[in-house]
Parts: sequence; C-alpha cells; structure tokens
Amino acid sequence: MTNENQGTLNFNTIAQHGGQELDAVTHARAVPIYQTTSYGFESTDHAASLFQMQEEGYIYSRNANPTNRVLEKRLAELEGGVDAFAVSSGQSAITIALLTLAKVGDEIVATNALYGGTYTLFAETFKRFGVTVRFVDGTNFSEIADAINEKTKAIYTETIGNPGLQIADIQAISKIAHNHDLPLVVDSTFTTPYLQQPITFGADIVVHSTTKFIGGHGTSIGGIIVDAGKFDWANGNFPEFTTPLPALNHQSYLELNTESAFIAKARFDLGQNLGMTLSPFNGWLFIQGLESLPLRMKLHVENAKQIAAFLNEHEHVTWVNYPSLSENDQYELAKTYLPKGSGSIFTFGIKGGLETAKAFIQSVKLLSHVANVGDSKSLVIHPASTTHSRLSAEEQQMTGVTPEQIRISVGLEDVEDIKADIHQALIASRKTNLAGQG
Ligand SMILES: *Cc1c(COP(=O)(O)O)cnc(C)c1O
Repeated sequence: MTNENQGTLNFNTIAQHGGQELDAVTHARAVPIYQTTSYGFESTDHAASLFQMQEEGYIYSRNANPTNRVLEKRLAELEGGVDAFAVSSGQSAITIALLTLAKVGDEIVATNALYGGTYTLFAETFKRFGVTVRFVDGTNFSEIADAINEKTKAIYTETIGNPGLQIADIQAISKIAHNHDLPLVVDSTFTTPYLQQPITFGADIVVHSTTKFIGGHGTSIGGIIVDAGKFDWANGNFPEFTTPLPALNHQSYLELNTESAFIAKARFDLGQNLGMTLSPFNGWLFIQGLESLPLRMKLHVENAKQIAAFLNEHEHVTWVNYPSLSENDQYELAKTYLPKGSGSIFTFGIKGGLETAKAFIQSVKLLSHVANVGDSKSLVIHPASTTHSRLSAEEQQMTGVTPEQIRISVGLEDVEDIKADIHQALIASRKTNLAGQG
C-alpha cells in the first residue's frame, strides 16, 4: 500500500491490502511466495553498500524476505505500529523481543498468568542465560512497581492471561513502565489486532504467536514482533541502541533506523545471529490468515459467547470464566479492553473435579484434544495435567490453574454441534466417574 494511503484505510481493507505493492514485472494480484535464500547483487559496489547498511535491499532470507515483508508491514499496520519482524515461532518472537532489551545481569518484570511455554522460557531458560524474570500479580500495580529496580529492562504481560483469562489493564501497566523509562511488551496472541490493539493503550512492543488465530487453521508455527515506534531508546537505559557499531557502518541502531530502531536491532542482531527465521511459505499462509482474520474472529467470538452461556446454565458445570459474561468479575475491564468480546478461549470448572475433568476430555468426539488454541476447529485441554503440568502445585495456583478446570478454544463449527458434543461429554464423564467410584 502506498504511503499516502496510510492511516486513511480501515481494518478490513488493511487486512486485504496492507504492505503489498503489485510486483513490478508480473503484477501478480496475490502475494507471491519468494521461496529463495538469496538475492542477486547488481555489482560489487551494490553488494558492498548493502552489507555496510548504506542502502536497503535484500541479501539473505535469514534477516529479510519479500513475502515475509508483506506480512510484517500488514500486521504492523493492523496493530498501529511502525514496523514488524516475522520469526519462526511465538517463542522466538518473545525471546528475540525481550533479549533485544535485556542481557546477562538484567531483569524483566512479568505478570504471572502466562502461557505455559512462556513461563518455562522465563523461569528456566532465561534464568540459565543470566536474565532474571520477576513474576508479579498483574492486577496488583504496587507489586509491579516494587519489582522494578535499576537492572529492569522491560515489563511483560499477556493481553488475556493463560489460562486464568486475567485481562491486562494495559493503560495502568504502561504508565508504570513509562514512569520508570521502561518499555511495555505485550503478548496479544489471544486477542489479535481484531479484538484489541495494545499500542492504542500504551504498549510499546506487541508480540504474537501467529500459529494461533492469525494462521487460523492449525497448519504452521510462526511469530511476529511489532514496534509501536514510540519508545525513547535514547533515555539512558538502553546504550545498545545508541552506541555506534562497525557492523552498522559506524552508526547506532537509532541512527540506522530512527523510525524503528527496535525492529532494526531485533532483525540484525538476534534475528540475524540466532537465525530463528520464518519460512516464506509459512509467512504466505499467515498472509492468507490475515485476509480472513476479521471474518473468522467475528464468528469465533459469536460461537464462544453462546457456548459460555450454555455452559453457565449446565447442571454439571460449577463455574464459567468468560470475561464477557455480565456476572464475571472482569466484565468492566472487558468492556474497555475487549468491546467486541473476550475472544474464543475460556475455561470452565466441571462438577466432580480432577477425575471428571479427565473423563470429559476422553469423552469429547467432535472437539479435539490438542495442545493448541485459535484453530478453526474447536479444541479442549485439561491444563493441570498437560500445558501446566510441569509447574509445581504453588506455581499452578499462581498461574491460575485448578484441577477441575477445562480450557476450550471455540472454533467455527455450527454452534449447535459444538453444544451437543459438550453436552454428551459432560453426561458421559459423570457416568464414567461415578462408575469408577463405585
Ligand atoms: C502459543 C503461544 C505462544 C507460543 O507460540 P508458538 O508459536 O507455539 O511458539 C506464546 N504465547 C501465547 C499466548 C500462546 O498462545
């Protein structure tokens, strides 16, 4: 899309056109898959100038690829950011985003209701690499502020915590971060830019596992980092952004790319050197996903609201945690942060506890028992015995996991069929469990 159009187009239009310019030779209407590792240089001078970062252009697909560039520009535009960097997975996106900010000896403050893989990455892997993550209750603002010290380089949260569904008060948390001259990094995988644009509430960096709703069909692993372009990297806390480097033609990242020094550093430092590269084929699938994202998210949320209401009335269910239900204690936060609905992933408690919860999972037929969310197909899992099973009992409690809890990711099937399968599984799980006890 041409620059003159930027800011004037609406969400659905950007989802179709953002970041794409028709190929000058073929005028291909769909985004082509540039399945190439490298790009021919016009001359030795041209090659030298690209390597010395004197001009922009493609060298090697480990740091940039034209198909992935469309995905990056389109998602940046949908999020209201200035640029993005697409990588091999959500885990890579989180790793590169945070290690672009923190090095050995530094600290990160993270809210404690996190995706299981992220929790392990922080508590085990980052720790091993000398980066300490301090976990805090994301609803307790003084606890967040108290955890910040002179070594802190970022605050991290998820838009909707997993699996407890805590909605982050991004305005409040970003204020704390900015008062300490720190950026706020937000994982918006559960929300996608369709349900929420964290940058509008003060987030500085947004990460996604594109594996989930953005891909939308459970086919590919990928991730992306989006920069709001608003943070002041010259505030004294981030010398790696302001120090000139020989590799950058004796410029700093801030001088190299004043609009998005963060993406430049993410791409040419860890992206380039660790090589967590997104395959252009997967990038292309995520572009297809973005084009249908608004339609899919609308139906995901419609179905989820109906399933939440159905479970809420069901005699074998003790509780339903879906923030858009009017009796939910996060209903007011949901109205501010998720006015279109609080997504299609939520949890409920099954009467009978742990054994009945496992029997329910065994009894579903249409719903799939997998460790994934955000597929077009409905998925269920029992977090206590799977995604969060590596956590101790205290850690499970801290991250919001309980024995009777089932997590559901409501898909795009006819809602009557989803209801019927849940109903038969609820009945069957009671029978199995009662038989087991007798
Ligand atoms: C899946 C997920 C991740 C990790 O993404 P991968 O693509 O599986 O590496 C991170 N955060 C959240 C919220 C997720 O759902």
